[in-house]
Amino acid sequence: MAGKDLFTVETLRAASLQQLAQKSESAFKQFFKKNKKKIENADELVLKLHKQAFLKTDCLQCANCCRTLGPRITGKDIDQIAKALRIKPAKVIENYLRIDEDNDYVFQSMPCPFLMNDNYCSIYENRPKACREYPHTDRKRFYQIYQLTVKNAYTCPVAYSVLENLQKELK
Ligand code: SF4
Ligand code: SF4
Repeated sequence: MAGKDLFTVETLRAASLQQLAQKSESAFKQFFKKNKKKIENADELVLKLHKQAFLKTDCLQCANCCRTLGPRITGKDIDQIAKALRIKPAKVIENYLRIDEDNDYVFQSMPCPFLMNDNYCSIYENRPKACREYPHTDRKRFYQIYQLTVKNAYTCPVAYSVLENLQKELK
């Protein structure tokens, strides 16, 4: 990798991520169309880019996902949150959750009710699976979530950085 050209997460933080993502969206999509086969075989590289991006990113300085996205909450997640709060699962649903248009539980409103002023998560050890896995760029068969990652690039500097550097590496 050409270190000099590396798109750093620091740069992303300083600039407006949404503007950058909007500017890059069609290029990211075109790149996928033209390089599908290469991307299908790039899981190892994507994982490397994911790790590199997180090494440069302090989620506590960002918290964009906790502020805006609203993870899908599973039954298991509800049990975990109940455990963290020492209340009954039914109370978790009553106090914090609603059902969305896809019939999934999500938080009643965002920013997340468990996001604290210093950007820490007050239920971190018991946070939902979707929170643990976001932005998913370390999963296998990355090509299956490429388009989702293009969307996530509007919110998450790591997602943007992975796409940007994937283009550079596979060119
Ligand atoms: S539960 Fe924690 S990690 Fe998940 S959105 Fe809320 S603050 Fe963020
Ligand atoms: S949006 Fe990405 S970089 Fe920001 S806190 Fe969430 S996972 Fe971390």
